[in-house]
Amino acid sequence: MTTRLITGATVWSGPACTPEPAWLLLDGGRVAGTGTGAPPPADEVVDLAGHHVLPGFVDVHLHLTQAAWYPHGGDAWRWRGLADALDAVRAAAAADPAAPWLLFWDAARWTWPEGRLPTARELDQAAPGRRVLISTADMHRGAVSPAGLAAAGLPAGRGGELGDDISRDRRGRPTGELWEAAFGIALQRALTDTEDHAGGGVGAVLAAEARRCLSLGITHAHDPYVPPGWHDRMTWLRSATPLRLSWATGPAAGMHSPAPGPDAAPGGPYGDSGREVKLFADGGDRCAIRLPSRAALGLLRGAVQQSLRLRRPGPLREALRRRLVIRPRHVHTPYLRYTDTELARLMARYAGAGVRMRIHALGNLAGGQAARLLQQAGVPPALATIDHLMLLDPATADRVAASGASVSYQPGFIPRYGDMLTGMRVDRYATVLGGRRLLQAGVPLVLSSDYPSGPLDPLANLRAAVDRRYPGGRELQPEEALSREEAVRAATVSAAASLGALGAGGIQAGQPADLAVCDGDPFAPATRVTQTWVAGTVAWSS
Ligand SMILES: [Zn+2]
Repeated sequence: MTTRLITGATVWSGPACTPEPAWLLLDGGRVAGTGTGAPPPADEVVDLAGHHVLPGFVDVHLHLTQAAWYPHGGDAWRWRGLADALDAVRAAAAADPAAPWLLFWDAARWTWPEGRLPTARELDQAAPGRRVLISTADMHRGAVSPAGLAAAGLPAGRGGELGDDISRDRRGRPTGELWEAAFGIALQRALTDTEDHAGGGVGAVLAAEARRCLSLGITHAHDPYVPPGWHDRMTWLRSATPLRLSWATGPAAGMHSPAPGPDAAPGGPYGDSGREVKLFADGGDRCAIRLPSRAALGLLRGAVQQSLRLRRPGPLREALRRRLVIRPRHVHTPYLRYTDTELARLMARYAGAGVRMRIHALGNLAGGQAARLLQQAGVPPALATIDHLMLLDPATADRVAASGASVSYQPGFIPRYGDMLTGMRVDRYATVLGGRRLLQAGVPLVLSSDYPSGPLDPLANLRAAVDRRYPGGRELQPEEALSREEAVRAATVSAAASLGALGAGGIQAGQPADLAVCDGDPFAPATRVTQTWVAGTVAWSS
């Protein structure tokens, strides 16, 4: 074994990730020690003067297999309304007559004066006969053309288990607007067809995405959903890249469909972690929130204000489409995906089979349900992560802490969606991405990207956890900020611990030498990752 000594750097060492000027000794693939006194002898000395050495980033919620196909579609983030959308569809149809689908990602629909996505008819007029899919930024809602709906096998008539996930006109015909499970089915169809079209290039597409992760200091990427049929491909990808890789599976039809139970889950391990399933307690666009009664009027005022600002009724019309249940003391959105009985049963079955659960809960109502049922079913903390908990209240934070589950949250949503959330005024009635509240309640807190729904760059996400700023410089609930060390811990050691993966001890003797080397203070805006080490080897270097 070769020993290597890193000198001159600030090392964020130990499970607490405490930064201090120190030497760092590596022995083969492991850390042999770190210290501040006279450095020990080594076979090789690596001078990293002025650099910071952090544990490699472990991103527990990174849709690698979906994001890998983004370059095969168009970027819709900057569209400012329906006209931009339809222009882009027309241009893409003309530019690539052979593409099986015309795909567009990241539509910020809520900024559009119309408030809505194009209808199937409008898409068909722009690109006659073509399969078109436009995804909103959250990947839980989209617009699909008539040919796309047919290809995805979505029912043209009413009824069926997809129910409200397919919007329909007065005569019961699909409008082209899809939500949650229905959208997931169309997305999976589109990705599979696009892959088939790419032929032998699938491996190269995935490997390129893995390299991109390494270039940002990510040493372990965890894909929260791959269809069971892609399990073997993930195992291959793990063998083809130095990036540590793990994943969850779920239903074959699409990410947001009901979970099929542990019998359908491939045998483990799943790369660098154990078996895991993704469950959706609520939706993404349709999340299950419970707020104080006065919020009903406040949210409506927010929508009116947005409509006035855009001089169009779109935002108000959208707000009125949302279902709101009014009770004497509170209001809630009835968007839980499972009844208590259904979810409790699923949890017991997966826990009984030793399959870890990654439970999507954006709203506090969904987070509360998940935590309550995890506790009731006696699910061991090591088998549960609650993802997002974007909207939170004190009672829900305590309930989640009592369940013992880890929470993976995405401070990178603040720069991306902060304007929308404050525009809707939800920040007046709930804690948004409440990192501090979760830590104080005693929840093991993990920071993840949810890329491509959120930004991928871990350094940007660390900074967002600490400064909580969105474009324009305003801060969102600054009392929820993490300290720098807390943020680094959440993105590295706590993340690894939540997966039961290597790296939970941080940079200390005996731990894997997975490192993100930065060219300066990681919290300075200009700082970049310049080297990524996995198991003591430079896996990527600028
Ligand atoms: Zn996600």
